[in-house]
Amino acid sequence: MAFDYDLFVIGGGSGGVRAARVAAGENGAKVGLAEESRYGGTCVIRGCVPKKLMVFASGYANIEAEAGAYGWDVTLGDFDWNRFKGTLHAELDRLEAIYRRLLANAGVETFDARATVKDAHTVVLSTGVEKTAKHILVATGGRPTRPDIANADAGIVSDDLFDLPELPKSMLIVGGGYIASEFAGVMNGLGVKVTQFYRGEQILRGFDNEARTLVAEQMVEKGIDLQLGTNIAEMEKRDGGVWVKSTSGDEALFDQVLFATGRKPNTDDLGLEATGVKLDRAGAVQVNEYSHTAVPSIYAIGDVTNRVNLTPVAIREGMAFVETVFKANPTPVDHDLIPSAIFTQPEMGTVGLSEEAAREIEAIEVYSTTFKPMQSSFAGQPDRVMMKLVVSQATRKVLGCHIVAPAAGEMIQLAGIAVKMGATKEDFDRTVAVHPTMSEEMVTMKTPVRTS
Ligand code: NDP
Repeated sequence: MAFDYDLFVIGGGSGGVRAARVAAGENGAKVGLAEESRYGGTCVIRGCVPKKLMVFASGYANIEAEAGAYGWDVTLGDFDWNRFKGTLHAELDRLEAIYRRLLANAGVETFDARATVKDAHTVVLSTGVEKTAKHILVATGGRPTRPDIANADAGIVSDDLFDLPELPKSMLIVGGGYIASEFAGVMNGLGVKVTQFYRGEQILRGFDNEARTLVAEQMVEKGIDLQLGTNIAEMEKRDGGVWVKSTSGDEALFDQVLFATGRKPNTDDLGLEATGVKLDRAGAVQVNEYSHTAVPSIYAIGDVTNRVNLTPVAIREGMAFVETVFKANPTPVDHDLIPSAIFTQPEMGTVGLSEEAAREIEAIEVYSTTFKPMQSSFAGQPDRVMMKLVVSQATRKVLGCHIVAPAAGEMIQLAGIAVKMGATKEDFDRTVAVHPTMSEEMVTMKTPVRTS
């Protein structure tokens, strides 16, 4: 049977765009792609990229205090949200145009429309047009969710943050994950009075305890009102803001409430289940290590599969899909030892096992140090950083590396190479320190602080 395309991709985010353009550009496949919103997807339009630019914007808040100590006479004026927002959106428009151009240059035919799956080889566009393809790739990503409580629509979600008509004076952020903790720092830096409710005992659940505790302490030090073991009991729109009663009984009025309480795969009404594609209870597409669904012609990559929800992982899954399907070279995706950064303030970079997770598996040595970094310490700032290695007693391999420090994301990218290569503690030790830096501590820690 002749199909309209060799591949039809649903979703123009990081994963979908990469798969489409490599399949078309490098492998000569005839590829169609449908995107119902903006090209670039969550990461470029309403995630990593605008978030990181907001992290940069908020970072200038401290410049007056620090530069002064270094002899500069600096007076910081007010932050102009609308001026920043204009530049931010111009940048997002530029990036979206690049994504469109990359697809066009690779020969991918794009449709600004929603696509649903009709059968194993057919998609239906919201324009009414039907297209057939030998393979269908579902790369529809995910979206933020609100908790199931009364008047939850009085709160906003992360998608809304980049379009706020004005910067609120006060904001309650609900959640203790990446998004909640990153935006607590961003908003605080921009001058918003931030309260953060997290229902558990410490934010950033699942990350190394020592690292996340230090991040939380520094967030509080910087002025965030972090309330642990706390959630919203009641909320409603009131007096131009949102009135909230917490589970500890306190009542307060906030200009905005942000729910950063998790994300959900975009599979609603996509027609997948009717074709035989299996979804899990959270609605994620179930795939094997080749991103293959239960239907031979349908694959899925990225956040819609809810494996490791990170842009570079979606891109890798897209590349592995192309290798598997268009180069006859079955390539599973390696989800082991993925370095990642959390752009809290201070930043956290991490690869491998937390101390707690490693101890569950084998006997370990823990090397850890916290200290005041030179740059901010000189300016009398209370900032503290942490460098930590979790080492296997048996193999001497570094099982986990955790960094809390400015630019921890940059550091962990490089430390991640060593850890992925299976470096031992002794490999770290025989590497000469780069002085004076924060990360030199990574190769100079001599005595374990704990063994078990
Ligand atoms: P997460 O799953 O990381 O965090 C959700 C948070 O909300 C958790 O603290 C959770 O608590 C809490 N929560 C869930 N339901 C409720 C509820 N009903 N009431 C109160 N609190 C609730 O989701 P995020 O939205 O922060 O991030 C989604 C994903 O996006 C991440 O997992 C990550 O993969 C990706 N991401 C990565 C970034 C990066 O790499 N820097 C940045 C941003 C996002 P509990 O812990 O108790 O379950």
